[in-house]
Amino acid sequence: MDPVLELIQKNGLGYQVSGRDYLVRCLNPEHPDTNPSLRIDKVSGSFHCFSCGFKGNLFKYYGVFTSQTPLKLAKLKEKLQELKTYKNGLELPRGAIPWTRTFRGISADTLKIFEAFYTNLEEMLQDRICFPVKDVTGKTVVVVARHVMSNGNPRYINWPASANMPLFPPHAGSGDKTLVLVEGLFDMLNLWDKGLSNVACCFGTNTLVKDLKLKLLPFKAQGVTKIYFMFDGDDAGQKAQQQLKPLVEEEGFEVELIQLPDDMDPGELSQEEVDSIREYVSPMMH
Ligand SMILES: [Zn+2]
Repeated sequence: MDPVLELIQKNGLGYQVSGRDYLVRCLNPEHPDTNPSLRIDKVSGSFHCFSCGFKGNLFKYYGVFTSQTPLKLAKLKEKLQELKTYKNGLELPRGAIPWTRTFRGISADTLKIFEAFYTNLEEMLQDRICFPVKDVTGKTVVVVARHVMSNGNPRYINWPASANMPLFPPHAGSGDKTLVLVEGLFDMLNLWDKGLSNVACCFGTNTLVKDLKLKLLPFKAQGVTKIYFMFDGDDAGQKAQQQLKPLVEEEGFEVELIQLPDDMDPGELSQEEVDSIREYVSPMMH
């Protein structure tokens, strides 16, 4: 029997086989994991919980050094992973296939620019359109996956879930002194697709406050001086705009709020509406 499976069974862990991994309940004592979310590599014993981010190696975890081979291999793989992470950021999930069709009104070309993909091999990402979210250095820091069904639940998954979300994309349209900040990934994609390229999304207003200075830095470095908030037209979005305005102003930006009609979000704006917003925020370009 293979050493990893032996260890799993010896310690009485319930497991499922999932591709190249065993799937067990998380070993992090602080994570009550009812739905197994810890993946253990069948060969190396390296594990990673995609729910809480808990990482390690099963051999080390149980203090077992019976066989040299898997441990050596594990070390090598870990080292390789470290190197890859350093150079390229997060590795794309297994079986990533480029997305080549339109989706929810966003053109295939725009989806290609943002390197949309799907995968049938990574269980958690099945039936989802996935986007590698990159930081200003070009490294992928997280994959954001939206369910392809409009009633799919949850609508979005961050992979890994513990990632700190940057503003995305981290570059405003080149030469622009202004940036339009929206809440959701598809808000950003809709505006971009319709020709407004000095736009970024914050993946929900709750996480924006965290490391705000750092998130705004790339835009400051590019010469952006004014940020237009265009959050969802609902109460939550409007409240968030009011709360975040002074915080962003404190970082040295001029802030203007663009009020959308009640219950409308930037993901629903038509070409005509986006054109008029673009003329308003980038008058020098016309
Ligand atoms: Zn966990």
